[in-house]
Amino acid sequence: MEKAPKLSLSEYEKNFDEITPAFSKNSAVLEANRCLYCYDSPCIKACPTHIDIPTFIKKISTDNLIGSAKTILESNWVALTCAKACPVEELCEGACVYNEKGEQPIQIGRLQRYSIDHYFENNMPELFEQKESNGKSVGIIGSGPAGLACAAELSLLGYKAVVYESNEIPGGLNSWGIAPYKSRQADSLKEVALVESFGAEIKTGITVGEDISFDEIFRKHDAIFIGIGLGNSQSLNIPGENLVGVVDAITFIEDVKQEVWTNVDVGKKVAVIGAGNTAIDAATEAKRLGAEKVMIIYRRSEKEMPANDYEYELAKQDGIVFHFLTSPIEIMGEDSVTGLKSLKMELGKEDEKGRRVPIPIADSEFEIPVDMVISALGQKVKKHFVESINDLQIENKLILVDKETFQTTNKRVFAGGDCINGGKEVVNAAYDGKRAAHGIDSYIKSL
Ligand SMILES: Cc1cc2nc3c(=O)[nH]c(=O)nc-3n(C[C@H](O)[C@H](O)[C@H](O)COP(=O)(O)OP(=O)(O)OC[C@H]3O[C@@H](n4cnc5c(N)ncnc54)[C@H](O)[C@@H]3O)c2cc1C
Repeated sequence: MEKAPKLSLSEYEKNFDEITPAFSKNSAVLEANRCLYCYDSPCIKACPTHIDIPTFIKKISTDNLIGSAKTILESNWVALTCAKACPVEELCEGACVYNEKGEQPIQIGRLQRYSIDHYFENNMPELFEQKESNGKSVGIIGSGPAGLACAAELSLLGYKAVVYESNEIPGGLNSWGIAPYKSRQADSLKEVALVESFGAEIKTGITVGEDISFDEIFRKHDAIFIGIGLGNSQSLNIPGENLVGVVDAITFIEDVKQEVWTNVDVGKKVAVIGAGNTAIDAATEAKRLGAEKVMIIYRRSEKEMPANDYEYELAKQDGIVFHFLTSPIEIMGEDSVTGLKSLKMELGKEDEKGRRVPIPIADSEFEIPVDMVISALGQKVKKHFVESINDLQIENKLILVDKETFQTTNKRVFAGGDCINGGKEVVNAAYDGKRAAHGIDSYIKSL
């Protein structure tokens, strides 16, 4: 693979600098004072964790920052990551009434970060009442936002929460996936520390199903919560996938997330296959690592691309080139990637999901010269693991749960996050984990 030359440390730092910087005190108070404290608070409804946004903002305006952080954390245990990484323009800020007046919405994400930064800078003062131990324990598989939220809530309800995590560093995609120019691994680890401060135990480097069987933890605990997220990107299923220079987007992003930028090799010309948010992250990260040209290859058109508008704009600003209606059929090269053979596509009729089906155009084959291919075709739930659990119903390749209690078809097993929704946002996983803790509490009390 023809590698892009390494940059200097300061160039890497500049390229991966936060795209949304922190507020100063003056700016935060000014912004907080703009909030209209609307009677119907559309922002609260738009937040999947229903944070009482006007109240935490009001507390910022009176310099009651610890009170403000308490209001936020009562609804969301991973509020720092959410403040930095939530697609706020589609959620709380998108619902702000200022949009209707043609004015800038309140910068809710930045204000939330202002409060939570203050809370962590002040060593997480004790704000939450904890019930006495009830002698029951819950095994939680996965320490992503779903597992962490579940562990935090259960710990406060008096349970012993034991989290089993494959990785040596906990936090799930908050630690390993979110683009570093949005939030850093260190942010995620502050949230892990908060959950641990409630007494939750996080056992890292343990893969359930490999290092310990599911049956063993099922016997050990009174209930189980599954928050395993999804697996790596799906395979491309075209010749050349094993050539040097072909990588899976999740693995590439994990390498970048370790922030030892010089250790991550990137090609001069990079093709990212897929057009979801993960594809965009992989593309912008490749560009920030020094790739000369980064292309997104997508077989449908701009209209059908799954990435949200904010991410698409970000990619365009970073100079990412989009090849729409293009489908790769072979990765070229002897040992290393040298090109991507592709076909031009046109759109046919809608499929059962309402998306127009891409159809190859005859004799349209062409080659795009590249020296790295990143596959970002979307992720799936770990089939082998979920199928090994008794009485667990799978629907549309995801774990089926009751939408109120998050109980699966195996009564003692609950689940939430990406493994039940197929891949949404951190905030959805945080909500699921918290609600599931209450589902588990009701179930155990009912026995
Ligand atoms: C590249 C990328 C970028 C993203 N960017 C954003 C963003 O900017 N904003 C946003 O809101 N959302 C973003 N998301 C989505 C968000 O990260 C996820 O929706 C969220 O992390 C899901 O949380 P989870 O707890 O369900 O799973 P995860 O965060 O995936 O955590 C699952 C955890 O379970 C562990 N695990 C799995 N199997 C086992 C096992 N058998 N035993 C023990 N442990 C196990 C894994 O190691 C992992 O730590 C992004 C996703 C990706 C892939």
